[in-house]
Amino acid sequence: MQRTLALVKPDAYAAGHQGAIAAKIQESGLRIVAIKSLHLTRAQVEGFYHVHAARPFFGDLCTFMSEGKILAMVLEGDDAISRWRALMGPTDATKAPKDTMRGMFGTNVERNATHGSDAPDTAAFEVGFFFAGNELV
Ligand code: ADP
Ligand code: MG
Repeated sequence: MQRTLALVKPDAYAAGHQGAIAAKIQESGLRIVAIKSLHLTRAQVEGFYHVHAARPFFGDLCTFMSEGKILAMVLEGDDAISRWRALMGPTDATKAPKDTMRGMFGTNVERNATHGSDAPDTAAFEVGFFFAGNELV
């Protein structure tokens, strides 16, 4: 059993796709064990994406991720991290298959509709970034 963090990013949230994305997650057999919507400040986004601070797209990414509300979810299941990443599709939405979340709801390599943790250690950090222990029982 594994947990991972899923986000519906501001592009997909503003377009009203958060319900469709949550439904796809449930249809895949992953359980949504915690869920909340919120609007991150730019400083909060910089903390969440600190591993990308040196990347050339960091500034634009932080502007995008703080432009509007997001949906944060903790997903649970066997191999939840890789299963949610497979359902999302590749980072570049223009290259994502049409049956993936990024292929369906994303626009380009930045505005790609969803986020998913990439490993157990990042999942632990990212789940803890959004949810307290008493929200995860
Ligand atoms: P992923 O979200 O697939 O794990 P990364 O961790 O590499 O991808 O990047 C984090 C986020 O930064 C991406 O989801 C996307 O929104 C943005 N991003 C990644 N690469 C680029 C790029 N080359 N240009 C602009 N934005 C990017
Ligand atoms: Mg990543």
